[in-house]
Amino acid sequence: SVAVFGSLNMDLVVRVPRMPEAGETLTGRSFLTNPGGKGANQAVACARQGARVAMVGRVGDDAFGAELRSALAVQGVDASGVLETPGVSTGVAAILVDDGAQNCISVVPGANGQVAEADADAMRLAGTKLLLLQLEVPMAAVLRAAQVARAAGCQVLLNPAPAQALPEALWPLVDILVLNEIEAKLLGGLADVHAGNAAEAAAQLSARGPRDVIVTLGAEGAVWFADGKSRHFPAPQVRAVDTTAAGDTFIGALAALLVEGATMDRAVEHAIRAAAIAVTRVGAQASMPTRAEVLTRS
Ligand code: ADP
Repeated sequence: SVAVFGSLNMDLVVRVPRMPEAGETLTGRSFLTNPGGKGANQAVACARQGARVAMVGRVGDDAFGAELRSALAVQGVDASGVLETPGVSTGVAAILVDDGAQNCISVVPGANGQVAEADADAMRLAGTKLLLLQLEVPMAAVLRAAQVARAAGCQVLLNPAPAQALPEALWPLVDILVLNEIEAKLLGGLADVHAGNAAEAAAQLSARGPRDVIVTLGAEGAVWFADGKSRHFPAPQVRAVDTTAAGDTFIGALAALLVEGATMDRAVEHAIRAAAIAVTRVGAQASMPTRAEVLTRS
């Protein structure tokens, strides 16, 4: 099975005709809430591909926390490792979207910011083959989770998002690094990463520890580097309407195939097909395809 150690957020989306100015009160067009957070998104994407998935993280002792936990359970994700933290809010992203599709976002980590090394120590990893990590919870906890996973004989997949430098000790604990062009640019200290030089960037990142490095390239697909060789996987041409959580869908699907014992080639091909479907639909978790949809559309 797969375990995810990471963030859960409630996205609070307000549609407005235009962005309000400081001090202004502007009537909005609509309001909706969507479960999100990179950790929870990847857990749901993975479960939709048929994997057994457990989520480890923190929510506040509030209504959003309860909602996020039950939303995971509805998707078949084991949320018993999602703990309630008293005295702090559930993570939220307050999002204004105007008629021109521009957005203004403020993310409050809330309980995600309270995820601690002790939470990593408390993870139950019996039967877990692969642990998924992102960077929306404190780095010290991420590092400890990687250590605990390695000690338990699990593989570690790190998605270094949002982009930030990694502590030296984390690099050798990562088996599979999956990152987009912006993250590859930051971690590689490069001027730019694109389809033309992604293999080179991946090789350089792999030299720091991860055996497998996958750089996702949006509409251009992805590049996989391992064992001194790289391979480019093109993405199917689709009409993209909302690329939110494309990377999360890719990672969840990749993980699901890998724990089934698929080769990396096959897992990447499947992940690319899953992500291509997700970008043709609106939303984050709402846009993620099931296994059956990925198989029928390819
Ligand atoms: P992120 O969501 O982290 O910015 P990317 O933009 O690289 O990551 O997208 C992740 C994956 O989603 C890509 O590798 C690709 O497989 C798929 N994808 C993203 N945008 C498109 C698109 N316009 N058409 C087809 N596939 C896409």
